[in-house]
Amino acid sequence: MSAEEAPIDFDPSYVAGLFDTVGRVRFDISETPQDGYTVRPMLRLSPHQTQLRAAVIGEFLEERGYRYDFIEREYGDEFFRLQRRTDLEDLQSFLDGRSAHLIRELAFVDGVFADQFDFDILDPVDVYRFTVARDELRHGWRPKGRYHVSPDDISDRHDVETDDVETPALPHTELRTGYTVEWIAGVYDGVCRYRASIAEASDYEIGYAMYPIARLHRSGVCPTFVNAFRQFCEDYDLTYGDSSGKNDLQITFTGASNVRRILDVLYPRLLVLAEASEGLVEGILPAFDENVHRDKRGFYDLLREFDRVAELSGGPFRHREYDPEYFADLWRDELDLVDRGTVPSHSGTRPEDELDQFDEVTVPPGAFGTTPRRFRTLVDRVERDPDRVARLKSLYDDRCQLCGTRLASSDGTGYSEVHHLRPLEAPHGGSDVTENMLVLCPNHHVDFDNGVVRVHVDDLSVDHPYDSAVDGDELFVTAEHEPAESALRYHNRTICRLR
Ligand SMILES: [Zn+2]
Repeated sequence: MSAEEAPIDFDPSYVAGLFDTVGRVRFDISETPQDGYTVRPMLRLSPHQTQLRAAVIGEFLEERGYRYDFIEREYGDEFFRLQRRTDLEDLQSFLDGRSAHLIRELAFVDGVFADQFDFDILDPVDVYRFTVARDELRHGWRPKGRYHVSPDDISDRHDVETDDVETPALPHTELRTGYTVEWIAGVYDGVCRYRASIAEASDYEIGYAMYPIARLHRSGVCPTFVNAFRQFCEDYDLTYGDSSGKNDLQITFTGASNVRRILDVLYPRLLVLAEASEGLVEGILPAFDENVHRDKRGFYDLLREFDRVAELSGGPFRHREYDPEYFADLWRDELDLVDRGTVPSHSGTRPEDELDQFDEVTVPPGAFGTTPRRFRTLVDRVERDPDRVARLKSLYDDRCQLCGTRLASSDGTGYSEVHHLRPLEAPHGGSDVTENMLVLCPNHHVDFDNGVVRVHVDDLSVDHPYDSAVDGDELFVTAEHEPAESALRYHNRTICRLR
């Protein structure tokens, strides 16, 4: 679709909020043979293991024409790296007056030490001064690992008389005053994670309570940053838990209504978390309202669904006590999980699959402005069309894709039904697109609903334990209609009861 090519008009405040959370200026300090040092600054933008976040960051960098490397490391800590000085200066002016944190780190790059960066050789005293200023700039944050050079390292090693060293003043770049909602949306997109909070609860019949949580955490930031976000929460009368410190934002929205209230404000402005938030607003939060989690089956299904959404925001946390497998074991008999061997689990699912599944999410018309809409074409190539069911039926001339039967009334008018592989209703949250649809006769429609049919994704062959007429055959598909693999997988994994 050509819309994929259209550029996004990135709102500078949004980018400032996003980069205030995902961006860090790092300094690569190397020792030279003659007791000198070189310092090379670079900007790192970390998508925090979230592909959509990487897509948005990458899109922005491309649009600005910046030169960057995307560094992938085996343990999943990938990041964009920018080193070209003109790019950092351009970014600084783009964010000017909008950033509440990163702008100060960027200003440091072309500030007091600018002449000494890159290939100048600094003596130990200068490097000592530099590291002291750098640490002050970072508000207590320091990178993990052995590559971090601290002021103490330098002074110990070279006997620097630290009392005699005057440390330079930090750049007094203007941070933004207050906030805009766009900036807040950028911050939210940068660090918010969704997850289900689960606790034993004796006053619940099933013994466990579950709440949706949206949590923001970013440490080592300017107090301005923390205060601006807090001010937003107060101004919009949100209910939130606050464990923030002066240089540390820790805000938690707990429960369906409180998560919904912040999303009411931010949802149309989100890019990174648009898909995940949509899954919440359209499927998961209503399911909580309906108390779906009050019985075991509903609880289990909702948790699995929530995990998929959480994955899009950087993941449900690994190594947690209450994951779906825990409840699958605990409630094995009641849940009626047909398989007695492995329980379907999302924990081993590759991120690509998760994105794939969210291809299918439908957006209510007008829910998004044009800007996110255009970005969304990267992951959501589907446009809404009210006639698609009718067109799909006519594409197959009302013939069942499973058995080829064409039911017709006396005047020859065909009759068929459309099945959604991933059901539309909560907690499934499937979408009303042809990739999620099959044209079926009424009998086979019922069989799909009851989960007694499986369609193999690779060759579309069909398993049907009691209908030998279709068992082993292939699902019929026209060239103009391609059921999404992810929808078929969803059916096989979640609806299908054959093992
Ligand atoms: Zn049929």
